[in-house]
Amino acid sequence: MPIPKIKKLLIANRGEIACKIIRCARKMKIPTVAIYSDEDINCLHTKLADEAINIPGSLVSKTYMNSDVIIKICKKYKINAIHPGYGLLSENADFVKMVENNNLIFIGPSSKIVRNMGEKDKAKLIMEKAGVPVVPGYHGKIQDKNFLEQTAKKIGYPILIKARAGGGGRGMRVAETSNKFLSALEEATSEAKTNFKDKNCLLEKYISKARHIEIQIFGDKYGNVIHLFDRDCSLQRRQQKIIEEAPCPELNNDIRTFLGDLSVKAARSIKYEGAGTIEFIADIENGIDKNKIYFMEMNTRIQVEHSVTEAVTSTDLITWQLEIANGNKISKSQKDIILKGWSIEARLYAENVNNNFLPQSGLIHHLNFPKMLKHPNCIVETGTQEGDFITPFYDPMIAKIISFGKDRNEAIKYLENFLIDVEIGGIRTNLNLLKKLITNKNFIKGNIDTKFVESNIKDFIDNESDPYYVALAGLVVFNETIFKQQSNWYMWKPSEYPLNITIQDRIQQLKICQRNMNEYEIKVNNLKYLFTSVKIHKSSLKAKLNSQNLDINYKLIIDKHTNNKFFTIFAKDITYEVIVLDSLRLRENNEEFSEDDIIAPMHGLIKFNKIRENSKVKKGDVLLNLEAMKMEYSLNSPRDGVINKIYVKNGQQVTEKMKLLSLKK
Ligand code: ADP
Repeated sequence: MPIPKIKKLLIANRGEIACKIIRCARKMKIPTVAIYSDEDINCLHTKLADEAINIPGSLVSKTYMNSDVIIKICKKYKINAIHPGYGLLSENADFVKMVENNNLIFIGPSSKIVRNMGEKDKAKLIMEKAGVPVVPGYHGKIQDKNFLEQTAKKIGYPILIKARAGGGGRGMRVAETSNKFLSALEEATSEAKTNFKDKNCLLEKYISKARHIEIQIFGDKYGNVIHLFDRDCSLQRRQQKIIEEAPCPELNNDIRTFLGDLSVKAARSIKYEGAGTIEFIADIENGIDKNKIYFMEMNTRIQVEHSVTEAVTSTDLITWQLEIANGNKISKSQKDIILKGWSIEARLYAENVNNNFLPQSGLIHHLNFPKMLKHPNCIVETGTQEGDFITPFYDPMIAKIISFGKDRNEAIKYLENFLIDVEIGGIRTNLNLLKKLITNKNFIKGNIDTKFVESNIKDFIDNESDPYYVALAGLVVFNETIFKQQSNWYMWKPSEYPLNITIQDRIQQLKICQRNMNEYEIKVNNLKYLFTSVKIHKSSLKAKLNSQNLDINYKLIIDKHTNNKFFTIFAKDITYEVIVLDSLRLRENNEEFSEDDIIAPMHGLIKFNKIRENSKVKKGDVLLNLEAMKMEYSLNSPRDGVINKIYVKNGQQVTEKMKLLSLKK
């Protein structure tokens, strides 16, 4: 039977991956159709595609994951192929089956493979059969909790409980000791049931010092399977990747060849077709050891981090996916795949590193990725533009920044230089964390494991409350607001001018004194900073502090409706948001922020804990839970006190910066 060709392609995704697929399809002269939710009407992917069709609603279940509607759109618009990108429907076997039943081309493997590999227990059994070592543990059918508890004891603690249908780090819990097992099991099964409608779990030996190593593979319809070498994805938070690189710095050529061959063998055994990744976990307690690298899972789709592999193997994997779906053979043989240079990817997320990586939503007032001319060795893959709103409905990744160098040090340096020039304002991101990670001594040495970020979190949290940054913000705010409004300021010079600002949700009170035209003394708490040779020109500030030269950029946004002033300061090592508090009022009741108010850090759904008005709380107690972006976050009490008033109800949808409750002494 002749293999059908792609005539018109629907991209069942959004963001950077949708944009990249559209561009690749266009080069192959394949017409493209984007789908978009009500939230995404102005997003880049809807503008780039040849046609764009709205699926009404905001939730992914109603829009990007609405299988029935997507299939109907294909029929109506004579579309014969679907690229699922990553996440969303990409590993949903029921959807792939629907695509097959409707005689449409799915860019990816068959529904049977997606189903088998999608269940972590089944995947482990298949891999074991193919002779691939899997993480020691239990991946059988019995789910009786007493049996699992006994089995855990035999495997040995610490134990990792994983939802078999899990993904994105959800449905995963570590039980350090046997007395924690049953509660961890209950948490994992309940999260699995909510997220995946499947509460079955498997048990794995928890590898305390681990590296995440994965192999990119590719198969075609003719039984050809090749690998495109390895990636290291050990820099993670919440068990999810932040920085990835290719090749893996930990591997020598012997282990590299071993893992590549093993992955090809595994993929061949299941007649794999399309792009796939075999993920391994290496126990590095005593250094890297070929016999201590285990299969963890297989992803039957293109991955976020495929771009680093493209860079070091000079390939274009999205185009390959389309070519293979069109019935072509893989255009290169294994010996043509040459590993050259080094590539590192940093994922820029809207999230609050200081608050357990809580995803953030809000308007991106300002976005400036530096020009490629200045940074020819970096690329940005993004679907986000200035003026976009990061909503709580979708993944908060803003962009991927990928560097390429002749060796690891060069790739690190290029990425570092690029990140310094990135300007993003209006929303809190992990940009500072990325800059700190890429310049971290242990990262540079390659001396990291999957818990590196969380174990060293105090080195990575944002330090914008440091009095120096507060003083710097004061200097900018003073010059852009008070000084500009009163040009004769210098003439009547008061001894001190008080200024109230908030920096990342903390109120800061400072006192500013202009000594002469270019000299300012700024007091923060009991500390004094003397800035000299201050020059401000078009949103950039040059000054001297002691003998150090400062050169920073900033962006001022004035809210048209309220006249509130927001600054984003782009210092070399840190970007931070400043709100001029004197003019800021709460949206709801025109009341000023008070330190006793608990404010919603993002849009979400309120889930109460047990607190009641007038109940006593201790610092760190969970006040209430907020469900957003499919995760549950707890809001903790900043101090000991008593609940004064609760402004929200259980199950209420709240918006960012809404007052939720207040405390009293
Ligand atoms: P998901 O599909 O939810 O992303 P994975 O099985 O891919 O989950 O695992 C995600 C991450 O969790 C890994 O990259 C690793 O850091 C950690 N992890 C998974 N299994 C183990 C294990 N047995 N021991 C230690 N860490 C693990």
